[in-house]
Amino acid sequence: MMTSTLWPVDPVTYFALTLCSGYAILSRMLSMKGRPRGFRYPPEDRFFRLVDFRPGGCWLWKGYLHLGYGRFNDGQRIVRAHRWAYENLVGQIPDAMQVDHLCRCRACVNPDHMELVTQKENIMRGISPASRQYATRTHCLHGHLLDGVYHRGNQRVRYCKTCNRENARRQRRRLRELRETVSVE
Ligand SMILES: [Zn+2]
Ligand SMILES: [Zn+2]
Repeated sequence: MMTSTLWPVDPVTYFALTLCSGYAILSRMLSMKGRPRGFRYPPEDRFFRLVDFRPGGCWLWKGYLHLGYGRFNDGQRIVRAHRWAYENLVGQIPDAMQVDHLCRCRACVNPDHMELVTQKENIMRGISPASRQYATRTHCLHGHLLDGVYHRGNQRVRYCKTCNRENARRQRRRLRELRETVSVE
Protein backbone atom coordinates (compact mmCIF):
# COMPACT_ATOMS: atom_id res chain seq x y z
CA MET A 1 0.00 0.00 0.00
CA MET A 2 2.87 2.38 0.80
CA THR A 3 4.54 1.81 -2.54
CA SER A 4 1.48 2.96 -4.52
CA THR A 5 1.78 6.50 -3.08
CA LEU A 6 5.46 6.78 -3.97
CA TRP A 7 5.27 5.00 -7.34
CA PRO A 8 2.41 5.51 -9.77
CA VAL A 9 3.22 2.03 -11.06
CA ASP A 10 4.92 -0.76 -9.24
CA PRO A 11 8.74 -0.72 -9.41
CA VAL A 12 8.99 -3.71 -11.74
CA THR A 13 6.69 -2.12 -14.38
CA TYR A 14 8.43 1.22 -13.94
CA PHE A 15 11.82 -0.35 -14.51
CA ALA A 16 10.54 -2.20 -17.57
CA LEU A 17 9.04 0.99 -19.05
CA THR A 18 12.26 2.96 -18.51
CA LEU A 19 14.19 0.21 -20.19
CA CYS A 20 11.77 0.16 -23.14
CA SER A 21 11.84 3.93 -23.73
CA GLY A 22 15.61 3.91 -23.28
CA TYR A 23 15.85 1.20 -25.87
CA ALA A 24 13.54 3.13 -28.22
CA ILE A 25 15.66 6.28 -27.93
CA LEU A 26 18.87 4.33 -28.36
CA SER A 27 17.70 2.44 -31.44
CA ARG A 28 16.50 5.69 -32.97
CA MET A 29 19.88 7.26 -32.33
CA LEU A 30 21.61 4.29 -33.90
CA SER A 31 19.43 4.38 -37.01
CA MET A 32 20.20 8.10 -37.41
CA LYS A 33 23.92 7.45 -37.00
CA GLY A 34 25.93 8.21 -40.11
CA ARG A 35 23.14 10.27 -41.59
CA PRO A 36 23.61 14.02 -41.49
CA ARG A 37 21.06 16.05 -39.57
CA GLY A 38 17.91 16.84 -41.49
CA PHE A 39 18.27 13.89 -43.88
CA ARG A 40 15.49 11.80 -42.50
CA TYR A 41 14.21 10.89 -45.95
CA PRO A 42 15.99 8.43 -48.23
CA PRO A 43 18.18 10.01 -50.94
CA GLU A 44 15.88 8.99 -53.82
CA ASP A 45 13.00 10.93 -52.22
CA ARG A 46 15.13 14.01 -51.69
CA PHE A 47 16.60 13.72 -55.17
CA PHE A 48 13.31 13.78 -57.07
CA ARG A 49 12.05 16.62 -54.91
CA LEU A 50 14.81 18.71 -56.49
CA VAL A 51 13.89 17.81 -60.06
CA ASP A 52 11.78 19.99 -62.33
CA PHE A 53 10.30 17.74 -65.01
CA ARG A 54 10.14 19.95 -68.06
CA PRO A 55 7.70 19.33 -70.92
CA GLY A 56 10.65 19.07 -73.33
CA GLY A 57 11.88 15.93 -71.55
CA CYS A 58 14.69 17.50 -69.58
CA TRP A 59 14.77 16.98 -65.83
CA LEU A 60 16.12 20.29 -64.65
CA TRP A 61 17.95 20.36 -61.34
CA LYS A 62 16.40 22.82 -58.90
CA GLY A 63 19.11 22.31 -56.28
CA TYR A 64 22.60 23.68 -56.00
CA LEU A 65 24.47 24.15 -59.28
CA HIS A 66 28.21 24.22 -59.82
CA LEU A 67 29.45 25.34 -63.25
CA GLY A 68 25.98 24.56 -64.51
CA TYR A 69 25.97 20.99 -63.18
CA GLY A 70 23.73 19.97 -60.30
CA ARG A 71 25.19 18.90 -56.98
CA PHE A 72 23.43 16.53 -54.62
CA ASN A 73 24.14 15.43 -51.07
CA ASP A 74 23.33 11.72 -51.04
CA GLY A 75 23.73 11.57 -47.25
CA GLN A 76 27.36 10.45 -47.43
CA ARG A 77 28.98 12.99 -49.70
CA ILE A 78 28.21 15.67 -52.26
CA VAL A 79 28.02 14.17 -55.72
CA ARG A 80 27.22 15.42 -59.20
CA ALA A 81 23.46 15.15 -59.58
CA HIS A 82 23.46 13.88 -63.17
CA ARG A 83 25.98 11.17 -62.29
CA TRP A 84 23.90 10.16 -59.28
CA ALA A 85 20.85 9.81 -61.54
CA TYR A 86 22.78 7.74 -64.07
CA GLU A 87 24.29 5.44 -61.45
CA ASN A 88 21.01 4.90 -59.64
CA LEU A 89 18.67 4.61 -62.61
CA VAL A 90 20.90 3.04 -65.28
CA GLY A 91 24.08 1.58 -63.84
CA GLN A 92 27.67 2.00 -62.81
CA ILE A 93 29.87 4.51 -64.65
CA PRO A 94 33.30 3.01 -65.43
CA ASP A 95 36.28 5.10 -64.31
CA ALA A 96 37.51 5.80 -67.84
CA MET A 97 34.12 7.02 -69.04
CA GLN A 98 32.42 10.39 -68.75
CA VAL A 99 28.76 11.25 -68.92
CA ASP A 100 27.86 13.37 -71.93
CA HIS A 101 24.64 15.35 -72.10
CA LEU A 102 23.01 14.73 -75.47
CA CYS A 103 20.57 17.58 -74.80
CA ARG A 104 23.52 19.92 -74.13
CA CYS A 105 21.92 21.09 -70.90
CA ARG A 106 24.29 20.63 -67.97
CA ALA A 107 21.56 21.00 -65.35
CA CYS A 108 19.57 18.10 -66.84
CA VAL A 109 19.54 14.92 -64.75
CA ASN A 110 17.47 12.74 -67.08
CA PRO A 111 19.58 9.62 -67.75
CA ASP A 112 17.82 9.20 -71.12
CA HIS A 113 19.60 12.37 -72.18
CA MET A 114 23.00 11.02 -71.22
CA GLU A 115 25.53 8.83 -72.89
CA LEU A 116 28.80 7.39 -71.68
CA VAL A 117 31.77 8.54 -73.71
CA THR A 118 35.53 8.63 -73.31
CA GLN A 119 37.05 11.94 -72.23
CA LYS A 120 38.47 12.53 -75.72
CA GLU A 121 35.10 11.95 -77.39
CA ASN A 122 33.51 14.31 -74.89
CA ILE A 123 35.91 17.12 -75.78
CA MET A 124 35.43 16.47 -79.51
CA ARG A 125 31.70 16.71 -79.07
CA GLY A 126 32.11 20.18 -77.55
CA ILE A 127 29.37 22.52 -78.68
CA SER A 128 31.41 24.91 -80.80
CA PRO A 129 33.57 24.01 -83.79
CA ALA A 130 36.17 26.32 -82.21
CA SER A 131 36.57 24.05 -79.19
CA ARG A 132 36.88 21.07 -81.53
CA GLN A 133 39.60 22.93 -83.38
CA TYR A 134 41.25 23.81 -80.09
CA ALA A 135 41.26 20.18 -78.98
CA THR A 136 42.74 18.87 -82.23
CA ARG A 137 45.33 21.57 -82.92
CA THR A 138 48.97 20.52 -82.76
CA HIS A 139 50.72 23.88 -83.12
CA CYS A 140 50.49 27.25 -81.40
CA LEU A 141 49.62 30.55 -83.10
CA HIS A 142 53.29 31.06 -83.94
CA GLY A 143 53.68 27.67 -85.51
CA HIS A 144 55.58 25.91 -82.72
CA LEU A 145 54.68 22.41 -81.65
CA LEU A 146 52.36 22.36 -78.60
CA ASP A 147 54.66 20.42 -76.30
CA GLY A 148 53.74 21.60 -72.80
CA VAL A 149 51.00 20.19 -70.59
CA TYR A 150 49.67 21.36 -67.26
CA HIS A 151 46.66 20.34 -65.23
CA ARG A 152 43.90 22.63 -64.09
CA GLY A 153 41.46 20.73 -61.93
CA ASN A 154 40.74 17.59 -63.93
CA GLN A 155 41.44 19.38 -67.20
CA ARG A 156 44.55 18.85 -69.27
CA VAL A 157 45.72 22.14 -70.75
CA ARG A 158 48.33 22.17 -73.50
CA TYR A 159 50.63 25.08 -74.13
CA CYS A 160 53.63 26.02 -76.22
CA LYS A 161 56.88 25.79 -74.26
CA THR A 162 58.76 27.96 -76.77
CA CYS A 163 56.29 30.83 -76.56
CA ASN A 164 56.11 30.46 -72.80
CA ARG A 165 59.89 30.71 -72.54
CA GLU A 166 59.96 33.74 -74.85
CA ASN A 167 57.21 35.48 -72.91
CA ALA A 168 59.08 34.92 -69.65
CA ARG A 169 62.28 36.27 -71.19
CA ARG A 170 60.45 39.34 -72.50
CA GLN A 171 58.93 39.90 -69.08
CA ARG A 172 62.32 39.69 -67.39
CA ARG A 173 63.84 42.12 -69.92
CA ARG A 174 61.01 44.57 -69.35
CA LEU A 175 61.53 44.39 -65.59
CA ARG A 176 65.28 44.90 -65.96
CA GLU A 177 64.73 47.94 -68.17
CA LEU A 178 62.27 49.35 -65.69
CA ARG A 179 64.74 48.88 -62.86
CA GLU A 180 67.51 50.57 -64.86
CA THR A 181 65.40 53.62 -65.67
CA VAL A 182 64.46 53.94 -62.02
CA SER A 183 68.07 53.74 -60.82
CA VAL A 184 69.23 56.37 -63.38
CA GLU A 185 66.77 58.95 -62.19
ZN1 LIG B 1 17.96 16.92 -71.00
ZN1 LIG C 1 54.56 28.95 -79.74
